[in-house]
Amino acid sequence: MVDTRDFINFDDIDENGPQSYSRTFEISPSELERFEIAGIGPVSISANARKGELPKEYVVDGTAKFTADLTCSRCVEPYPFASSSAFNLRFEPRPEAPKNGEEELEITPDELDLEFYTERSIPLRELALEQVQLSIPMKPLCDDNCLGLCPQCGVNRNRESCACEESIVDDRWGALREIQQVIKKRES
Ligand SMILES: [Zn+2]
Ligand SMILES: [Zn+2]
Repeated sequence: MVDTRDFINFDDIDENGPQSYSRTFEISPSELERFEIAGIGPVSISANARKGELPKEYVVDGTAKFTADLTCSRCVEPYPFASSSAFNLRFEPRPEAPKNGEEELEITPDELDLEFYTERSIPLRELALEQVQLSIPMKPLCDDNCLGLCPQCGVNRNRESCACEESIVDDRWGALREIQQVIKKRES
């Protein structure tokens, strides 16, 4: 039987026990608002949800899988990226907002795996989007050793070499000498 439910429903879990879900969502790069994502394939998410140990707490664990084309942060070329990540989340009711005159409560969860809910149903699509956001590196690299673009003439140094390189090396030595002079001054 194909599971077509779009939401994890806490009432359903209270009544019928742990539930399993498996869905695939089409996502557009614009939804993610990350310029590093040139393109993204469907995101498959499977999740198991059950009651947690605390009252009104629910635990959701599972995996999310997708492939994407990311833009390398050094050479700005797209490269293929595949991700399969496991997650384990706890959902607790959002603490009530402070009344007038009371001190402002910090209601942002400080643990990575803790989320607050107000609605007793959680859209699986939101969970899938969240996992994609967490899986995409802050500074994607086509290769750890990517040489990037020449800051002077802009050629992709993975493919071409240029005449600028020598003077950049010189600049680096120059910067190093300055640092050494500063250190010497401090020491003397
Ligand atoms: Zn690169
Ligand atoms: Zn150059």
